[in-house]
Amino acid sequence: MSKLLNSRRKPGLCTTVVEQLKTVLGDGAYLTAPEDMSPYLTDRRGLFAARTALVARPGSTEQVCEVVKICAETGVGIVPQGGNTGLVGGSVPDDSGAELLLSLSRMNAVREVDRLNSTATVEAGCILADVQRVAEEAGLLFPLSLAAEGSCQIGGNLATNAGGTAVLRYGNARDLVLGLEVVTASGEVWNGLRRLRKDNTGYDLKQLFLGSEGTLGVITAAVVKLFPRPKQVHAAFLALSSVDAATDLLMSCYEAVGEALSTFEYLDHTSVELPLRYVPDTRRPLAKTYDHYVFLEIGSTREDDDLSERLETILEAGYESGEILDATIAQTGAQRDALWRLREAIPEATRTAGAGIKHDVSVPVSRVPEFLQSAGEIVRRLHPDALIVSFGHLGDGNIHYNLTQPDGVSVEDFLAPEAALREAIYELVASLDGSFSAEHGIGRLKRDALERYRAGTEIEMMRALKRALDPDNILNPGRVV
Ligand SMILES: Cc1cc2nc3c(=O)[nH]c(=O)nc-3n(C[C@H](O)[C@H](O)[C@H](O)COP(=O)(O)OP(=O)(O)OC[C@H]3O[C@@H](n4cnc5c(N)ncnc54)[C@H](O)[C@@H]3O)c2cc1C
Repeated sequence: MSKLLNSRRKPGLCTTVVEQLKTVLGDGAYLTAPEDMSPYLTDRRGLFAARTALVARPGSTEQVCEVVKICAETGVGIVPQGGNTGLVGGSVPDDSGAELLLSLSRMNAVREVDRLNSTATVEAGCILADVQRVAEEAGLLFPLSLAAEGSCQIGGNLATNAGGTAVLRYGNARDLVLGLEVVTASGEVWNGLRRLRKDNTGYDLKQLFLGSEGTLGVITAAVVKLFPRPKQVHAAFLALSSVDAATDLLMSCYEAVGEALSTFEYLDHTSVELPLRYVPDTRRPLAKTYDHYVFLEIGSTREDDDLSERLETILEAGYESGEILDATIAQTGAQRDALWRLREAIPEATRTAGAGIKHDVSVPVSRVPEFLQSAGEIVRRLHPDALIVSFGHLGDGNIHYNLTQPDGVSVEDFLAPEAALREAIYELVASLDGSFSAEHGIGRLKRDALERYRAGTEIEMMRALKRALDPDNILNPGRVV
């Protein structure tokens, strides 16, 4: 058994510690009433029950340090929380009542926008959409974009190394950061808020905290990269003859437009039909229905770029080869918004449709057709009634391979084969050199899978890092490792 599991735990969040925390935080910076704490204690997917005696809402890095110091001295586990949109149970306390919830939401200042260096220095609690807006006001672009952007926070995005819909062109959250400010497990501040594009001074410490899901330090601020805004963007929604046709099209787009390609999303038949059925203001993009669709976007920072002609050439070639069956290109901003609305409505539609069994997996792009084919066979064998809703970031090899409860099947019956299915899908992913957790992280939900699929040297290195940076295991204990 790992040393971490045996780590020292002091009494927890007793009345004395709660009073100490209230004193350092001051009025307005903590919540204790159950009705006030309830939204912070609601696990997004309803999988985990959560309890705490206090939600800390510090307003400054200094206050975060004070809180962490008290918790370090008294052995209280700390669960950092951003927008609480995470999907793996990492952002809510357990049901013991002994863990403190540390919400970063009041730390939402934009400290600086630096046009010449193309950076923004933002506090962890800034809502992602606000960071995008601040960049836009400066005539620049912050390209991280995901369906939860109206409520997730940049600290949570960095702590989960969020992906989203523009990874192809700009990379994951990890690629968008130049500097970090972090409060360590002992309550010290590491000020790494540098704006350097080159900095080979020893280990790149910020990379440890990015994607660590609050287990190695509390991110309090970040310097993020901004980019020139595209002056023209073209969005197209296509019906394809097969998944192989979709990966062929991805290659054609790369060859024709290179890094102008920012979005390349796959949607299966049900991923289009469910939003149309359950989510208001969604519109059918093509006159007929098909089995496979791609939603793509290309953009250029040059007004005189001939991108639209190049897109039409790609589509013509696809029609001629029979790989593209139908297509629409958005002619107006409203049409483009409608295509995005359909894509981003899929999670809401599946939630409304019923219970779900979800897999957030990635495989090398070249193996996506094989993955979808074999996963379909697994579902037909183990759960023939389930509705397959497979969609996601095909350009990144990241498919959300989800199953939804069909009409006429009870939740219990629908969920009964979940464990066997998950095991079979994860084994398939491993056989294709893929990952069982592409962008949502490990949290509490996927710890067993991490033990299994990263066993040996890899997980031992992760545990060594955890022991080095959080020896008393107070930062998000029981999550990730
Ligand atoms: C509709 C929907 C669509 C989504 N689409 C995507 C997608 O396309 N790509 C993607 O990657 N994810 C996606 N997600 C998952 C989720 O939105 C992301 O993981 C997001 O980055 C989480 O941000 P948050 O602020 O909500 O973090 P939270 O959920 O609050 O926290 C997530 C984790 O980060 C830790 N944490 C939060 N803030 C800090 C901090 N300041 N310091 C240290 N640790 C911290 C928490 O302890 C927790 O472990 C989606 C979720 C929803 C609901």
